Amino acid sequence: EGPAQLLALSKACLRDCFPNLDVGDAFDLLGEPKLSPSSRAQEEEPAPHSVRDELTSILGGQSVLANLSEDPNLAYSPWSLRYCGHQFGTWAGQLGDGRAISILETPNTSPNEEGQIWELQLKGAGRTPFSRTADGLAVLRSSIREVLCSEAMHALGIPTSRCLSLVGLPEVPVERERTETAAICSRVAPSFIRIGNFEACNGPNHVFLFGAGGKLEKGWEGMRKLTEWTKRLLGVQSTLDMVKEVAKRNMRMCAAWQAYGFMHGVMNTDNISVLGLTIDYGPYAFMDIYDPNHICNHTDQEGRYSYRLQPTMIIFAIRALKEAISPLVGAEVECNAPVSEGWAEGADEEKIEQWKEKGMEAMKDIELESMKIFETEHWALMRKRLGLKEQVSSDPDKIVRPFLDLMDTHTMDFHSTFRALGDFRPSAPQSVLDRLVGSSCSLQARHAWQAWLEMYSERLEQEGCTDAERQARIRGANPRFVLRQWVLEEVIKRAQEDAEGSRQLLMKLLEMASNPFRPWGAEDGPEDEQLEEEVREERRF
Ligand code: AMP
Ligand code: MG
Ligand code: MG
Repeated sequence: EGPAQLLALSKACLRDCFPNLDVGDAFDLLGEPKLSPSSRAQEEEPAPHSVRDELTSILGGQSVLANLSEDPNLAYSPWSLRYCGHQFGTWAGQLGDGRAISILETPNTSPNEEGQIWELQLKGAGRTPFSRTADGLAVLRSSIREVLCSEAMHALGIPTSRCLSLVGLPEVPVERERTETAAICSRVAPSFIRIGNFEACNGPNHVFLFGAGGKLEKGWEGMRKLTEWTKRLLGVQSTLDMVKEVAKRNMRMCAAWQAYGFMHGVMNTDNISVLGLTIDYGPYAFMDIYDPNHICNHTDQEGRYSYRLQPTMIIFAIRALKEAISPLVGAEVECNAPVSEGWAEGADEEKIEQWKEKGMEAMKDIELESMKIFETEHWALMRKRLGLKEQVSSDPDKIVRPFLDLMDTHTMDFHSTFRALGDFRPSAPQSVLDRLVGSSCSLQARHAWQAWLEMYSERLEQEGCTDAERQARIRGANPRFVLRQWVLEEVIKRAQEDAEGSRQLLMKLLEMASNPFRPWGAEDGPEDEQLEEEVREERRF
C-alpha cells in the first residue's frame, strides 16, 4: 500500500530478510502478481507464520532480523549511533540515537535510486545505548505525523527521509503529558548521519562509532573514518569539499522549505542531515496564514526556529560542522591530500590548534557562498510558484517580495494565495482580484493587490506564453493538497479513538499527501493533468 518506490525497497528487503519464505507470497502481500514459488520454497517446510506477521514483527520492533536467518552472511544486527549536538544554540553534549535503531542496509531497486544503498531504521522501537533516561518509544500521534509529512515533502520535491511502514502497538502504554499508545514507524534514507555525529568528535572522548564487525572506533581516527564514509556518500574527494557539499545541500533543502512554507521546528544541529535531507519530523508545520515570524514549536519561546530564521539556523549548523571538522580539514590542507589512518597520532594540543586554525581559514567563505546558493534556489522556486519561466534579476524585489509582503500585511493564506494565481488572465484580472481579496477585504487591500497584479501582468508580457500554459505551470508548482495542522489533528484523533477504523482515512491521506498536485475535484481536464505532470518532472531536484 506504500508508494511504488518504497515497494521496490521493501522487495529488496524481503529478498534479503526472508530467505526461507516463499517470495511469491511476500510479493503478493505487497500487491504484486504472485510469482511461481521458488525451488527452495518447494523443498523446504512451509513458513511457520504468515509473511504479514513476520514483517509486522520486524517493522514493529518485536523480533530481530539476525534471529530469523540461519545464513551467517545474513547476520544483521541492529545498530544505533552516538551523536552530540547544539540544542537551541547551546552545547548539549551527548545525545545519540535515543530511539532510532537501524536494522539493515539494502540496495534501493527503484529506477531513480538504482544501486544506491539505503538504510532502514525503526523509530520508537525501544531503548538504545543512547536513550539516557528516556524510554526509546514513540507515540502514535508523532509516528503518524512523521509518515504523512515525509511522504508529503517527497511529493513536493523537497529532499527528505522517507517512511516505509507504520506499526501501531495499542497494548503498549507510553507516559507523556498523558498516557498515549506506542507506534513504530520505519524510515529509509541513504544515511541518517547528521552534523551531530561530527560534533561527537568534539567531546572529550571524540567519536565512538560502531565500525565493521562491531569494532569501536575512538578518537581522531573515528573522525577520519566517519569523514571517509560521508565523502563517499556525497561523491566528493576532499574534506573541504565535503563541508561545502553538506552546506549546499542543506541550503537547497532550506530554500524549498521556505518556498513551500514548511517549518521544521527543532533545527538543532543533531537534526540536520549531512545529506541535506529533512529528518526528524517533530513539531513541524506547514504555514497557513503567511507570517514570517511564525513559530511552530511551542517550547521555542524565543522563536529561534521561526520561519524567517530557518536559513540562518542552517548556517549555524554548518558552523558547528566546520568547528568540529576543522583539524581534519587543516591537516589535509597542510599535506594537500586526504590524510591516512593514524593521521593525528602523536599530534599534541598545539598541533591540533594549528590544524584547526588552518582548517577554519580554508572554510571561511562557506557561509557566504551558502547564503548565495540559498538565495538563487529560493528565488528560482518562488518564480516557479508564480508561473514565471524566465529569470529576470529584478523579480525578487519587484515581484516576489511585494507578493509576500501583501500576504503578510493582509494576513492571507500562503498556499491558496499562490493557487489563486493559477486562474489569472491579464486580460481579465477581476475574478482573481475578487478571489484574492474576498468580499470582506478593505479598499486598501484591494488597491494594493490591483497594483501588484498590474505589475505581474507587465512581467508576464515579457514571457510570451499563453495563459493556459502559465496556468498549468502554476498548478503544477502549487499543491492543491497541503498537509495542514488541522488535517493531521483530525486523522490523529480518529486513529487514537479507533486505530483499525481510521486506517482507510489514513491511507487516503497518504495518497493525497503523495499526490499533492493531482486534481482531486472534477475542475481540471486531462490535458491540464498532463501539463502539470511535465512541469513536475522539471521541478524535481
Ligand atoms: P529530538 O528533539 O526529537 O531530535 O530528540 C533529541 C534527542 O532526544 C535525540 O537524541 C533523541 O534520540 C532523544 N529522544 C527523543 N525522544 C526520545 C525517547 N522517547 N527515548 C529516548 N530518546 C529520545
Ligand atoms: Mg532528533
Ligand atoms: Mg524528534
